[in-house]
Amino acid sequence: MSKIEAEQDNLKDSAKEIWGRISSQLKEELPQINYNMWIKPISPISINRNVLSLSVKSPFALKMLNERMSSIITRVSYETNHKGLEISFVVGSSPKKTPVISNLKNNDMYSFDSFVVGPSNELAFAASKQMANFSTPEYNPLYIYSNVGLGKTHLLQAIWSSLVSQKQRAKYVTSEKFTNDYIRAIKENKTDAFRKEYRSCDALLVDDIQFLSGKTQTQEGFFHTFNELFLSNKKIIIAGDDPNKLLEIESRLTSRFQSGLVVDIQPPDYETKIAIIQNKSEKLGISLLPEIADYVASVCNVNIRQIESIVNRLKAMIQLKGGEMTLETAKTMIIGFDEIKLKKRPEPENVITAIADYFNVSEEEIKSSSRSSQIIRARRISSYILRKDLHLTASASGYIIGNKNHATVLNAVKFIENKLISDKNLRYNIQQIRNSLNIT
Ligand code: ADP
Ligand code: MG
Repeated sequence: MSKIEAEQDNLKDSAKEIWGRISSQLKEELPQINYNMWIKPISPISINRNVLSLSVKSPFALKMLNERMSSIITRVSYETNHKGLEISFVVGSSPKKTPVISNLKNNDMYSFDSFVVGPSNELAFAASKQMANFSTPEYNPLYIYSNVGLGKTHLLQAIWSSLVSQKQRAKYVTSEKFTNDYIRAIKENKTDAFRKEYRSCDALLVDDIQFLSGKTQTQEGFFHTFNELFLSNKKIIIAGDDPNKLLEIESRLTSRFQSGLVVDIQPPDYETKIAIIQNKSEKLGISLLPEIADYVASVCNVNIRQIESIVNRLKAMIQLKGGEMTLETAKTMIIGFDEIKLKKRPEPENVITAIADYFNVSEEEIKSSSRSSQIIRARRISSYILRKDLHLTASASGYIIGNKNHATVLNAVKFIENKLISDKNLRYNIQQIRNSLNIT
């Protein structure tokens, strides 16, 4: 073998090694189906200076890796000690390069900038920014909770990249990864290394904490890790389910989770959904007619992942068909997405019935001019839902709640909006009412 060939072989080897470390970490973190589909088929070609060239099978795979995976690949390559590594994907094994991941700064998929802020998530956003910006945050730990697909992981990753770009040692793990690391450390007698890794960071971010459920031994390990970091004033950021509803997690842990700041993320309101739809479609380089955006916002009531999936498909459709998409075509195809549970907007009268039922008052009372506090509350929430979820005008809403004028409706909506910021109970009530109306 010539010297050059030997060198090339060396290069090949180290590309293989580097990719080996990165991909085995990805294997642990990604759902198996995603790993098998997108990561497993990748093969390393070469490493040249700091550019790792990887070969992918098709332009479609390239596109998916670009759009969906670049953030996690960047983070993992960073965490496996390949700082500053540039990854360039190549379709087939031709040397023509298409760089996709240059460095952390260019990777804004999960950044604060790409996070659309609205009333449903502004508290969680502000608290996350605080964690990212201040060396000693006012509250520690920060616990973020919500239903799935509402932005917890996005915020954690945004905090993580921001800290890392400020040269802080931040470690992001899912609680599953923590569990695996912990168990492996014990099995292989490497608890010292484990401690060093987890307790020497400036910030620890743990995602999906609910998966510690029932794992008593790991909880013990997490308890000590938590305490040590906490006592040395390191930042701790946790995301997961409602901390009051964590089953089979020791109370000494759940009480610690709640000892700093606990913030929730609610499903986005209509305006925020529209902003997210615009933001996502701009990123994909398409522009949707306002009535299509309105339609998407009205049928997507579950979470933001669902919005993304619809916008992605609309883009695919626009590319296939060409030209501008009409509301009718958009509707027909969106209705065809059977894996997406789409819900129709309820009729205004059903809203009044549901709210009357919920508060145990009569519909007539809501429509009357009674000033009893119970009825005023039901009437205000009716205004709020008619405006926010059904998007009726203030005058139309006023008509439904018994011929009230539009100013009464606007005041009621404002009142509820203000109260929602601090009143957990009210948030719960509204959530329950929305559930009963199939709105969220
Ligand atoms: P969770 O961790 O709460 O299940 P994710 O953070 O994974 O949710 O969010 C699901 C998807 O929705 C992600 O692609 C994320 O980028 C996007 N997303 C969530 N909230 C927002 C937001 N406020 N603005 C823009 N994108 C968002
Ligand atoms: Mg998540």
